[in-house]
Amino acid sequence: MFDAPIQNAIDQFAKLPGIGERTALRLVLHLIAKDKSLASSLSGALGELQEQVRECTQCHMLTTEQALCAICRSHSRDSHSLCVVAQVQDLIALESTHEFKGFYHVLHGVLAPMDGVGPNELRVSSLLERLQQGSIEEVILATPPTVEGEATALYLAQELQPLGPKVTRIASGVPVGGDLQFSDRLTLSRAVQLRRLF
Ligand SMILES: [Zn+2]
Repeated sequence: MFDAPIQNAIDQFAKLPGIGERTALRLVLHLIAKDKSLASSLSGALGELQEQVRECTQCHMLTTEQALCAICRSHSRDSHSLCVVAQVQDLIALESTHEFKGFYHVLHGVLAPMDGVGPNELRVSSLLERLQQGSIEEVILATPPTVEGEATALYLAQELQPLGPKVTRIASGVPVGGDLQFSDRLTLSRAVQLRRLF
């Protein structure tokens, strides 16, 4: 329906998660008709993203100029504990709780054999290398409490335990304010298994 530059832009926007054809069209028309300066600042920001942002060589969090991210460069964190997360967003969520003072390792996904995601597609080998250096005493597996997240945690536990650290799994129960009847079965069974004495 549209000439190439417009259709190309629509096609690119539509590749983003959660953006369908109609939303892509609306965004492109907005950039053309209402906010041309946003189009150029957007393309500048995307260019910088492409050129300057990379993964931390140690934990695979995002970093810019330096090889190590700000967390890995910190001298005030507990070098004996390591928390494994699936996504950058999970690291940010955990950091915002100020509960964990150790270092992280970002897998960039969870095991999903049906979608062709095996250990080689995740940052697993660099995790095992970090453990082989010997200073980490506890690994906390904080992959999500989904079927794939649980399978990933189980796989990692089996790989990590022979290397010596204590391997723990985050507890995941009924959310505060949540209603038991609306919790899925996996959440509920874990909530029961992990019950504690008052
Ligand atoms: Zn890092």
